[in-house]
Amino acid sequence: MAGLRISKAACTSCGLCQSACPAGALYIKRKAEVDRDACVLCGLCIEACPMGAITLEKEADAPTVAETTRDVWVFAEGLDGRPHPVAFELLGQARALAAARGGVVAALAMGTGAESWAPPLIEAGADRVYACEGDIFDSGMTEPFAAVLANLIETERPETLLFGATVFGRSLAPRVAARVGTGLTADCTGLDIGADGLLQQTRPAFGGNLMATIITAARRPQMATVRPGVFSAAPRAAGRQGEVVRVQQPTGLVLPQVLKTAPGAPGESIAAARVIVSAGRGIGNQKNLELVRRLAERLGGSMGVTRPLVDMGWAPYPCQIGQTGLAVAPDLLVCCGVSGAIQHLAGMGGAKVVVAINSDPQAPIFGAAHYKVVGDAVEILKQLLAQNKS
Ligand SMILES: Cc1cc2nc3c(=O)[nH]c(=O)nc-3n(C[C@H](O)[C@H](O)[C@H](O)COP(=O)(O)OP(=O)(O)OC[C@H]3O[C@@H](n4cnc5c(N)ncnc54)[C@H](O)[C@@H]3O)c2cc1C
Repeated sequence: MAGLRISKAACTSCGLCQSACPAGALYIKRKAEVDRDACVLCGLCIEACPMGAITLEKEADAPTVAETTRDVWVFAEGLDGRPHPVAFELLGQARALAAARGGVVAALAMGTGAESWAPPLIEAGADRVYACEGDIFDSGMTEPFAAVLANLIETERPETLLFGATVFGRSLAPRVAARVGTGLTADCTGLDIGADGLLQQTRPAFGGNLMATIITAARRPQMATVRPGVFSAAPRAAGRQGEVVRVQQPTGLVLPQVLKTAPGAPGESIAAARVIVSAGRGIGNQKNLELVRRLAERLGGSMGVTRPLVDMGWAPYPCQIGQTGLAVAPDLLVCCGVSGAIQHLAGMGGAKVVVAINSDPQAPIFGAAHYKVVGDAVEILKQLLAQNKS
């Protein structure tokens, strides 16, 4: 598996790597140390280190283009004891890709009863089903799934591997990609393949303002996740025959233990709120957020925030609007000190009426607002609260 290596001889304990790490994975204990579970292998620490003490090492390289088959694989996630509908949608697309390449379509089924999924998966387009039965998958953790997939990739060398962009698929796919050292394109809305075998993975970029087509030039398999509903399932061919390959469940895995689960604080998710008062960095400080929260409550709504406020720990993640937060569609959205960055606008396109308060008359948020108030957000919030006493 890939990992960071820190040369203790070269490290001066300056702490620049720690400051650069967005995942909190680096810390100084006499010399720099890395928490491998937290590390996301982004490489920012490598760039930040003035001594060149940090390197990224790979124990095994992913198969290269020349070393793979032309096969297209689909991870068949389970849902209520059956393959998830997205598996059938992916199989439809996998058939088209495999036909263009002259390869085989395989589905990967894991968990209790996985072997019984083979007939429907074959009827939906799989030529082969790798079925791995076992109670190790019952925990719902991604680790055993990732272990089986990584081993199979190493031995069978598929050219392409598709996952549904479900909650589970989004968690599993990057783990597998990291283990085998290949690329992954998330949330594809289009997949095509040329005679050169390059999977053209199309997905919205820059907050949906343009479509990017991404390729994995050198590593294999080419891995993509696709949201449910993007492709249509191919019609079932009743009685279609295929191969079933039994795979042993992994042994010797040490799984994390879940000691306790706790529900999120009630009312914090803003996804369904009809009224949202949102705050950006222009709110000044965490104390002023209380004004935003109070106005939201007065209007019977919830508080939203921009990403920097979540990053600074001023508000919890379920309040974040935007590309990497939630998409919201309230009847009324009041934005206080929000600049209107494209990644934020990507989450508020569904709002019916937008009121923006910003001290900068040129702020981009005004381009998305129906009512524009140029002024100090804190003062205006205080006045609104004073005028609307509950
Ligand atoms: C890959 C990626 C994903 C991202 N995802 C998200 C996301 O999901 N959500 C998100 O929000 N951001 C996201 N961002 C960050 C985004 O690019 C912006 O940096 C962020 O939205 C800016 O937040 P802001 O408007 O609070 O701060 P700033 O851009 O700093 O804007 C502050 C605004 O407040 C105004 N202001 C200052 N003082 C006052 C005052 N007293 N009264 C009124 N107005 C005042 C200023 O004029 C300015 O317009 C993402 C970035 C990247 C790279």
